[in-house]
Amino acid sequence: MQRIAILGSTGSIGTQALDVIARHPDEYRAVALAARSSAGQLAGQVGRFHPAAAVLTNPPEGFVGTNECQWSFGEEALLDICAREDVDAVLVAVVGIAGLPAVLRCIECGKKVLLANKEALVTGGELVMRAAKEKSVPILPVDSEHSAIFQCIQGRPNARPVRIVLTASGGPFRTWSLQQVRAATVEQALRHPNWSMGRKITVDSASMVNKALEIIEARHLFGLEADKIQVVVHPQSIVHSGVAFSDGATLVQMGLPDMRVPIAYAMSYPDRLPDVAPQLDLTDIGALTFEKPDFARFPALALAYRALKEGGTAPVTLNGANEVAVQLVLEKKLPFFRIASVLEAAMDRLPGQPVACVEQVYEADRAARSAAQEAARRWIL
Ligand code: NAD
Ligand code: MG
Repeated sequence: MQRIAILGSTGSIGTQALDVIARHPDEYRAVALAARSSAGQLAGQVGRFHPAAAVLTNPPEGFVGTNECQWSFGEEALLDICAREDVDAVLVAVVGIAGLPAVLRCIECGKKVLLANKEALVTGGELVMRAAKEKSVPILPVDSEHSAIFQCIQGRPNARPVRIVLTASGGPFRTWSLQQVRAATVEQALRHPNWSMGRKITVDSASMVNKALEIIEARHLFGLEADKIQVVVHPQSIVHSGVAFSDGATLVQMGLPDMRVPIAYAMSYPDRLPDVAPQLDLTDIGALTFEKPDFARFPALALAYRALKEGGTAPVTLNGANEVAVQLVLEKKLPFFRIASVLEAAMDRLPGQPVACVEQVYEADRAARSAAQEAARRWIL
């Protein structure tokens, strides 16, 4: 029996993880659940999954919990979950840099990390990977591309890949002209062709900032240099990513686009669970296509390589500015197309500085947010 805590249990990843747990009650138990403010939904999950603890970081006014489990509130309560004795593994599926302190707390307490939250590695990648190595804590990727890469390198301890093939669906604007992308609305950005996900990552997929963040995530998880990470646009989202080896062989992992597969693999690694997602029949798919990404229409991609080259706080700036820009776009205060302009302005203003401790990451994040707010004023609606 593996006892799992889910940070972000009411979200897209969180609810799919609970679906996997519900199908395998003898192997897994949801022992603690946490969300930001969705009290009704979380109370429903508590009633169904009977965890020992539930947390809301920002509870609605007057909400005191239910008498079915131990409720606690606030950001510190979220971190306390990671330290619980009855927790074996923590699925970190909150949005944004809020994932970083949680991942670090898990490592400190020796809890296996099932990592959906890519922002933790984008902002604190070096600190996280170093701490995980020191404490021998496994970081198991849940992001579908990184899970695919992880699956492709299993059983080959001495064969390091020479290149990562990071696939991208291209999002809703893949075939749009630059002029059309310039006029895109947030409603159009929220219509992802293949995946149903939370709002922030859906906007990130449309701007391709999601792929930018994933380049940085891959750099930290797999230790390859940025120029060995190749983005390939693959609109069918059947090939979830892969690796190339020195002899010319490329291995990829395929499946229908269903996040329960990477979630379940992180939970059951190195084994595989039955009854997770529908089987892929390649004859139903017919054709798979691959394209080079267009850096002119999706300038965020180049910013990821730039952030890795500058190093230190530069990826923190990219991420923090993006969190601000996406929020403004969702509130219809900033045109979708200006997301990359805000990121670039923030990065121009704040060149990468070395990072020695996590406080410097949080400080760089605050600086990035105010630089982004200021840059966004130029284009505010
Ligand atoms: P979502 O918005 O659907 O859900 C987020 C969950 O986290 C909710 O339960 C919410 O209440 C909680 N939450 C958000 N911010 C919080 C905070 N600051 N403190 C505490 N709780 C907070 O998001 P999602 O799509 O499930 O994505 C979660 C993470 O997983 C993101 O980092 C995203 O990039 C990553 N991810 C998601 C997918 C996907 O298919 N949805 C795929 C790959 C990676
Ligand atoms: Mg992904």
